[in-house]
Order: sequence, then structure tokens, then C-alpha cells
Amino acid sequence: MSDRVVDLRSDTVTRPSDDMRRAMAGAEVGDDVLGDDPTVQILEERMAVLLGKEAALYVPSGTMANLLGILTQTSPGDEIILDRNCHIINYEAGGASVIGGVQLYPLDSPDGFLPEEMLEGAVRPDNIHHTNTTLVTVENTQNRGGGRIYPIERLGAVKRFAADHGLRLHMDGARLANAVVATGITFEKYGSLADSINICFSKGLGTPVGSILISDAGTIRKARDWRKRLGGAMRQVGILAAACLYALDNNIERLADDHVRAARIGRIVEETPGMELVFPVDTNIVIFSIVGADSVEFVSKLADNGILALAIGPGRVRMVTHLDITDEDIDFLEEAFPGIAIG
Ligand SMILES: *Cc1c(COP(=O)(O)O)cnc(C)c1O
Repeated sequence: MSDRVVDLRSDTVTRPSDDMRRAMAGAEVGDDVLGDDPTVQILEERMAVLLGKEAALYVPSGTMANLLGILTQTSPGDEIILDRNCHIINYEAGGASVIGGVQLYPLDSPDGFLPEEMLEGAVRPDNIHHTNTTLVTVENTQNRGGGRIYPIERLGAVKRFAADHGLRLHMDGARLANAVVATGITFEKYGSLADSINICFSKGLGTPVGSILISDAGTIRKARDWRKRLGGAMRQVGILAAACLYALDNNIERLADDHVRAARIGRIVEETPGMELVFPVDTNIVIFSIVGADSVEFVSKLADNGILALAIGPGRVRMVTHLDITDEDIDFLEEAFPGIAIG
């Protein structure tokens, strides 16, 4: 029996490479709360330029970047329009409501893309009975939506709708780099279709820590205050920012390899009796269902065979490729899979 472990639970499981660690060790640093860390300043400036925006703010997590996007563009009592399956509703411990005091207006969509025809009806009329709708959020790529890429023309439609109704638009682009690599659409183009964007460095880009919020200068100024209030301002944070700069230079183009490997897993799933892909594989996430079997049991059986995945719902399993997964790992999965699935 092989002692190989193929960890496909998430693209957050990567460990910083030796070269990334060297870049971190060599980083020039200072007290960022006092405005003295040159490396984090380079990162924030570079990301603002990349997205075609005025400013950016490095934060400990994507959860905080999304929360700051909400806190800076709403007031307590306001309402946010979003998709029911989005990360903000499902995986951020209710921060928007608990800390932001905002109400959420989730739209039901089969694929995670906001149904344009439902937007108009979701905006509250100006009336003493209602909250104020102030923000719309979109997720690109989709997490629970199997890594799907938000179609650019639909993003444009949401942006136009938001602008026409005086609403701000926040893009949870935790995996925006995957969308950029898969489509060839630039970060700047995506940046032009949102007022604020969250990008995670700790997913496919392979750093140990960190996300960034990118927006106009006024919004980032407010976000800086909120980050401090929430305890997210850090000191010699250039050590971490250096890992992000390394990732920007070295780990973006290679996301294409993750996409090829995920597509291969998708084909293996399709060829295995009793399994069905839930979503087409656009990027690095594969979500499939196993007919008539319990996903928790199936995932534990996979683990016994050296393959780690996540059960994400009744009968639903998720696998994510990332920079520590090789072609040989997928060969291993291909050989092991049919036996596990049927036996
Ligand atoms: C991972 C993720 C986040 C943020 O996660 P953290 O673990 O807080 O960094 C936000 N949105 C999406 C879509 C994600 O996949």
C-alpha cells in the first residue's frame, strides 16, 4: 500500500515553498501600524495598480476583506443583495450581520450568478417600512458553485444595474486569479466591474496568510480604520507581504496547471459509474455527487485510500487542485477511484 497522501480538501492546504520562504526571510520590514513597512506598501500599491483602482489594504483573511468591503459601503440597518450560496452567507460566521448590523437579501440562483431579472425586485423602495439597499456582492470564481467563472457580460449587467440604482458592488474575488488565468480577461477589466474587490493570497496563490481589499482611496481609508478596530492591523507584516509579492511573480500563470488537473479529475468522475459532476469544471474546483451513497462515508473511504476530499453536503463531494498537487497525484486518484466508488 502506498503512503502517498493526495490532499484535495482545499487550495488553502499548500505550504510555502523554499523559495517563498527565502523571499519572506529577506523582506525589508517596519511597523505597518505606524506606516513604516515598505514591503506591504509595495504590495498594496501593486495590487491597486493591477486592478486599476486607487488603493488597497492587506488584511489577515478573505473573511476580513469581505467584512471590510461591507462595513465601508453600508451603514447598520442597510441591506445587501447577494446569492444564497455565497461565501459571505455560508462561511463567514455571520460577520456582516453581527458586526456590520446589516440585513442580507439572498437571491436563489441555480449556479451562483445573480439572476438579473430578480435584482429590480430586490431593491427596497424608499419607504419608512423598509431598510435601505446599499450594496450588491458577487463571487468570482464561485466557491460552492464549483469554481465557476462569473460570465463577464453578466458581471457587466450587475455593475450597470448597481450604478443605475446608486448601489455599490463588492466582488468576492478570493479566486479571481483563477478566473483571470482561465479566461485571459485582465485583473484591470474585472476591477472596472466592481467598486471593491477581495483577493486571497492563501488559496491557489500559495501563501500562508493574507488577503487584500482593493477599492477607491476613500473606501480604503475607512477600511484601514475598521481593520484597526477589529484587531487586524499588524506590525512587521512585510514578512507576509513578501510571500504575496513572490506569489504574484511566480504562482499566477501556473494556476493553468491546476485547471488542467481539475479538468482531468472531472473526466475521471464522469467516467465512474454512480458519480455525476454537479458543475462543469471551469477552474480548480470539482464538485460531484455520488448517487445513493453518503458523502461523509465516501470521503472517509477515500481517506483510507490516501485521497483527502471534503463532503460539502448530502451526497456532494468537493476536490480542489493546487500547487502541491502533481500529475502523479491525479494518476494515483485515477487508479484508486473506481475501486473506492464501486466497492
Ligand atoms: C476562502 C474564501 C474566502 C475567505 O476565506 P478566509 O479563509 O477567511 O481567507 C472568501 N470568499 C471565498 C469565495 C472563499 O473561497
